[in-house]
Formats: sequence, structure tokens, C-alpha cells
Amino acid sequence: MPVTAENLTIKNLINGELLEPVNGQHIDNIEPATGQVYGLIPGSDKDDLDLAIKAAEKAFSIWSNTPAEIKAKTLNKLADLIEENQDQLARTEAIDNGKPITLAKNVDIYRAAANIRFFAQAATQFSSESHAMEDVAINYTLRDPLGVVACISPWNLPLYLFTWKIAPALATGNCVIAKPSEVTPMTAYLFSELCIEAGLPAGVLNVLHGTGQVIGDAIVKHPRIKAVSFTGGSNTGTTIKQATAQQHKKLSLELGGKNPTLVFADCDFERTVDEVARAAFANQGQICLCGSRIYIEHSIYDQFTAALVAKVKQLVIGDPLDERTQFGALVSKAHMEKVLSYIELAQTEGGEVLTGGKQINLEGRCAEGYFIQPTIIAGLKNQCRTNQEEIFGPVCSVQSFSSDEQALQLANDSDYGLAASIWSQDISRCHRMAKQLNTGIVWVNCWLLRDLRTPFGGMKASGSGREGGLEALRFFTEPKNVCIKYT
Ligand code: NAD
Repeated sequence: MPVTAENLTIKNLINGELLEPVNGQHIDNIEPATGQVYGLIPGSDKDDLDLAIKAAEKAFSIWSNTPAEIKAKTLNKLADLIEENQDQLARTEAIDNGKPITLAKNVDIYRAAANIRFFAQAATQFSSESHAMEDVAINYTLRDPLGVVACISPWNLPLYLFTWKIAPALATGNCVIAKPSEVTPMTAYLFSELCIEAGLPAGVLNVLHGTGQVIGDAIVKHPRIKAVSFTGGSNTGTTIKQATAQQHKKLSLELGGKNPTLVFADCDFERTVDEVARAAFANQGQICLCGSRIYIEHSIYDQFTAALVAKVKQLVIGDPLDERTQFGALVSKAHMEKVLSYIELAQTEGGEVLTGGKQINLEGRCAEGYFIQPTIIAGLKNQCRTNQEEIFGPVCSVQSFSSDEQALQLANDSDYGLAASIWSQDISRCHRMAKQLNTGIVWVNCWLLRDLRTPFGGMKASGSGREGGLEALRFFTEPKNVCIKYT
């Protein structure tokens, strides 16, 4: 079946059916590359949630007792359907988000299918522990699904992160209420169609569209939601923590980042320039893992900065639907204005714009789109707001350092602690720095290289809990120890 949505009013998935919101209200969906409304999204509220909870609770008794192999078969069918429809899904993601279509296809949609396959398989291999107490007793741990859980995802990697959350939840036998971002809902809608086609039993996955303030808030506060897996901004993470503080829910919070990139004089120069540019500007700098604070060893600072600026100037900026485009639109007008305000702030803080700094007005179809030049800023102090607050756009700063200790001090001088990258050929230094960096992820001579078995997440304001591999399977299950005394 071809997936369909490109210019239409999308629906919620509740109890295996695509439904209009009970209140009949909708929100505009805007294409970032053109600034035009091109669809309508359900403005769901508590009434839709009540229907979804009822369906999910009903489905839970069957799904939670379905053998892992059978669940995996259905999930793998879903992954097959994503792959069969990858062109349409990639095109939809590019329209909805503003990202280049090649990135959407090779990263977002590819990973969405991979996420589902990975957790379908992982759940069939999941095992729990047993602890023997010599000749006294044996303990074993049961790991049961939690029940009805919530998965709330952001707009930057829409289907990629949506599937990253729901796949382990479903694979371990939970039923899910999922809320994609209201800014980029389209691929989650197409995915809902594919769930029906794949034969996912009614109520196992329910997808509710709408704003964070209304339906997101209602979901996290609902007393029968047993856990919330959330990816989004650090402030929203705090709001969710506060909203659920009285309820004893399990929470996994994957939040913002302000990630350091450490470039040493002994790096593989050309490759590092290419990869540092990619780490700063992929997806228009709208990846929580983007390296937006670039620290360069003093002896190569001028040479490296000049090469980085030259590299970034070559990026092909254009219509996200053009396969030659490497750098597309920002996700919304509000977000573009926020990013532009940070570029202005950087200059009032004493920064010098080395390249970029301006909004771009393209010609033709994208004349009203939300485009900003990739921007590199120098001359800022580490403690200024530009270097401390998450901009989440195509803006990075460069600073120099003159020792390993100083590099480490600058990198760790942040409220955030999501990811860092180190570029050096001195393996001892890389080990030493990796151990001392206060981030949940450290990449050495690479960036965004992902093995789905590894723990993923951040420390400090970047969140709590980890996703990925066993961490996700453990999050979505409740351990229960059974102790049997030998008699
Ligand atoms: P956001 O926090 O505004 O929204 C994320 C999701 O939460 C959306 O679906 C939104 O509707 C919902 N939401 C908003 N308010 C809510 C509330 N009160 N209760 C429940 N749900 C609510 O974030 P965003 O602007 O969509 O995404 C950008 C942010 O996400 C950045 O800070 C980025 O770093 C972060 N992010 C983190 C990771 C990670 O893995 N750590 C990955 C991607 C993005």
C-alpha cells in the first residue's frame, strides 16, 4: 500500500483506527522551506487520550503475553514497510521538517527501520539475572512490561526518534501512547497507516497529535500512564519532572546539549575539518549531538579555522527536495527567529562572525522559507550566553586552547553534558580526555557513529536515564526479584 499523506488533514491512531480528534479542532502544519500551510494536525485533548488509554489497557493483556518471536515478526513487518515506502517517507520528512531529502532518506528513514529491527531482535535475546546464595537460596529476576507507557518525541529527527522510543516499548510488551512533535507530525501519521497494514493489534500503539501544552501535558500527568520516555528540550524535561513528581512514574529524559568538539594539533587535518563541519551543521545544526563549541589547539587555530570556514562556505543551501541540497530550512519561523536573535546576541557579547550570520532569501518555491546561513563565530568568552545556552541551529563558536587541561576545563564548563568529540591521533590522550569529560557520550575521531547496543543519553541538564540496547529494554520493564529458600 502506498503511504498517502502529503497535503491533507491527518488523524490520530486510536484502537487500530485513524480518527479525527473528538473536539474537531486542528492546528496548521507549515512547510518550513516555503512558509506555507500545507496540512492540518489534530488538536487532541484529554478526550482522545481517554479513548487511547482504554484501547491500550485492553490490548495490554494480549500483547504483553504474546511471545517475543511473534511480537518481533509484526515489528519486522513494520520495518519492511518503512523500507518499501522509504522514498515517500523521506520526501514527507523533508517537506515537514525542512531537512535535505538525501539526509532524510539516508539517516532518518534508514534509522527508523533499523530501530524497529534492532529492538524486535533484541527483545528475543533479552534475559534476566539469577543470583545464587550458596546453599541457602536462589534469586531470579522477572522483567515484566510496565503496562501503558508514553513516548514523546521532538521535531528534529521526527520518525527516527519516534521509532527509537516506541520500538523498545513495544518489543518488551508494553502498549504505547505516542505523541510526535506538533511541528513535524507527518511521518508519524504515515507510520500509523503502516502499523495498520502490518497487522499491529488494535490499541498496542496509539498515536495522538497535538500540542505539548495540551495533549503532551495530559499524557504525562495521566495516572494510568506507567512511564514516560521523553526527548526534547531541557526546560520541558523539568516541567515533566515537576508535573509527575507526585506520581511515582518511571521517567527517561533525553534533553538538550551544548556539545564540545576538541581539535588537537595532531589530528588528521583534512578529515577533521570535514567531520567537524558536519558535526556542527548537519540537519542545519538541529541535532542534540551537534558540536557547537569548537575548541582548537592554539598552534593550528588560525589554519584550522580558515579551513573550517572555507568548508562551510561550500555547503549547498537550497530547497530540501532538491537532491543536491546539503543544507535546508530551519524547522519554523519561531525557531529561525530564535537562532537569529542568538547571532545578534553573540555580536553584542563581542563575537566576530567569521562566516554566515544572516537569513537567506532563496528564489522561487522557497522564497518565504526559513533559511539561515551556517554561521561560525569567534572571539567569545566561554561563559557568555552564546557559549552556554543551547541554540539548536546552524551556529557554532570557535575558541583556542593551549593544553589538555585547559581543553578539558573549557569543555566541562557547561550546564549540559550530552556528547563530546575528540580529534587527535594520540590514543593515550584520547583515553585520558574521554574518561574526564562530563558527557554521556564521547566520540573519538568520529561523530554520530552509532551502535544501537550502546547506552545513549546525557548527564547534568542533558537528562537522566539512558536509551539504547539493554538500557531501553530495562527501562520499559519492571524488575521483580523472586527469592526461593532451599529447604
Ligand atoms: P520540546 O521540549 O519543545 O518538545 C518535545 C516534545 O515534547 C514535543 O512533542 C512537544 O509537543 C512535547 N511537549 C512540549 N511541552 C510539553 C509538556 N509540558 N508536557 C509534555 N510534552 C510536552 O523540544 P523540541 O523543540 O521539539 O526539540 C528540540 C529539543 O530537543 C532540543 O533541546 C534538543 O537538544 C532536544 N533533543 C534531545 C535529544 C536527546 O536525545 N538528548 C534528541 C533530539 C532533540
